[in-house]
Amino acid sequence: MSETKILLTEKEMPTSWYNIQADMPNLPKPPLHPATKQPVGPDDLKPLFPLELIKQEMSRERWIEIPEEVQEIYKIWRPSPVIRARRLEKVLDTPAKIYYKYEGVSPSGSHKLNTSVAQVYYNKKAGIKRLATETGAGQWGVALSQACNFFGLECTVYMVKVSYQQKPYRRSMMEIFGANVFASPSNQTNSGRKALEINPESLGSLGMAISEACEDAVSRDDTNYSLGSVLNHVTMHQSVLGLEAREQLAKADTYPDVVIACCGGGTNFGGIAFPFAHDKIVNGAKVRLIAVEPSACPTLTRGHFGYDFGDVAGFTPLLWMYTLGKDFMPPGIHSGGLRYHGASPLVSQLVHDGIAEARAYGQTAVFNSATLFARSEGLVPAPESSHAIHCAIEEALAAREAGEARTILFNLSGHGLLDLPSYDTFLAGKLIDFPLPEENLKDALEHLPQV
Ligand SMILES: *Cc1c(COP(=O)(O)O)cnc(C)c1O
Repeated sequence: MSETKILLTEKEMPTSWYNIQADMPNLPKPPLHPATKQPVGPDDLKPLFPLELIKQEMSRERWIEIPEEVQEIYKIWRPSPVIRARRLEKVLDTPAKIYYKYEGVSPSGSHKLNTSVAQVYYNKKAGIKRLATETGAGQWGVALSQACNFFGLECTVYMVKVSYQQKPYRRSMMEIFGANVFASPSNQTNSGRKALEINPESLGSLGMAISEACEDAVSRDDTNYSLGSVLNHVTMHQSVLGLEAREQLAKADTYPDVVIACCGGGTNFGGIAFPFAHDKIVNGAKVRLIAVEPSACPTLTRGHFGYDFGDVAGFTPLLWMYTLGKDFMPPGIHSGGLRYHGASPLVSQLVHDGIAEARAYGQTAVFNSATLFARSEGLVPAPESSHAIHCAIEEALAAREAGEARTILFNLSGHGLLDLPSYDTFLAGKLIDFPLPEENLKDALEHLPQV
C-alpha cells in the first residue's frame, strides 16, 4: 500500500518560485495608474513596494530564485506534507483517491507565511523599517507580524472589524509578535474616519482596510505596504505549494485529475494550481483546476471581468480582474479570508480563458463538509479551506456516481483552531446562507471605474 503521508526532505525543496507569466497564452492587461489611467511603471509603485518585488510583479521569467535566507526560514515548516484522506474516502465510499496539501503546519497556521517571509526579506534589504498592512480573518496579519519579527521590522495591521470582533485570538497572536493592530475602519487614517462618519457601525471590508494601510504607508518614508494576496508576486511566492505537491504525488506514482483550492484573492489557488497549469498549457496535461469561492462573495462566478480598483478609496492601481465592484460589501460570513471584491489578475485571466474554472458554495454546505472532514481525518480545517474540502467531496461523490477512478488534490490552506466560534455557530444550527439577489450585485457594479 502506498504511503498515507507523503513527505519531501529539505534537500528536495524547490529552490526557485514558478512564475506563470512566462507561460500564459494571454497575459492580463497591465495595471493602470489610478489618476492618469496609464499603465503603471516601477516608479509609480515605489512609495508602496521595494524594487525587487516590483520587478517580480512584472517579470516574465519562468523561474525566480528563492533567496537563501528565505529558504532557511521556510525550513522551519517546509516542505509541508501531502496526506491521503483514506478515512474520508472510506466514509464517502468513493473509488477516488483524495490527497490534500496541508499548510496548517506553518507557525502562522496557514499558507500566508510563504509570502510574508519573502516580502519582509526584500523590504529589509531595501532599508525599510516598518510595514503597514490589512488583514481579513487575521491570518495575513499573523503571518506578516511573524515575518517582521524574524527580520526585526515594525508592523502595523488594519484588521477588518467583523473579524476583529469574531476572532480576538488572532489579534493576540499578532501582538505576541509585536504588531500594532487597529480595527478597520479606524480613526487612524482619513479613509477610515470618512467611512466611520458615513456608518459608525460599519463591519469593514478588506477593500476598506487596504485603503487605510496604503494611506499609512504612503504617508511615511520608513514604511512600505505589504499585501497578503491578489498580486502577481504574492501568487508566485505560493508556487512552492504546487511544486512540492507535484513531486509528492509523483512519489505516490500518481498525477491529479483535478486540483482544487479556495479562492479569496487567489494566491493559495494559484500557488497549488499554477505548476499544474504549466503542465496543461505547455504539455497538454488533462488536469482540471477549480477555484472555490463563497456564494456570498461570488467574484469569479458572478463578477465582471474588467478593470477595477483593489481598494474602496481608489488609491491602488486599477487591476484587470473579475470584480464585484470595489463598493461591494460582502455579508459577514465566517470565511473572513474570502470576503474580497476582486481576485488575482492571473487567476482571473486563466478562468476567463477556460484554463481554470470556478465554483461557489454557501457556508452551511461548506461547514457540513468541514465537520465531516474533521470527524474522518481528525483535523479541524479553516472555514476558508473548507470550501476546497466541499468541492473535493463533491468530486469524490461524482467519481462514485460515474464508477471511475479519479485522483483529487486539494489545498488545505490552514487549520481552524482559531475559528472555533464559527464552528459553535454552525453546531448550534445558527449559521445562515446569504444568497445574493442580482440587485445587490448590480449596485456595486454600477460604480466601476470608466477606463
Ligand atoms: C487568506 C486565506 C485564504 C484566502 O486567500 P487566497 O489569497 O485566496 O489564498 C484562504 N485560506 C486561508 C486559511 C487563509 O488564511
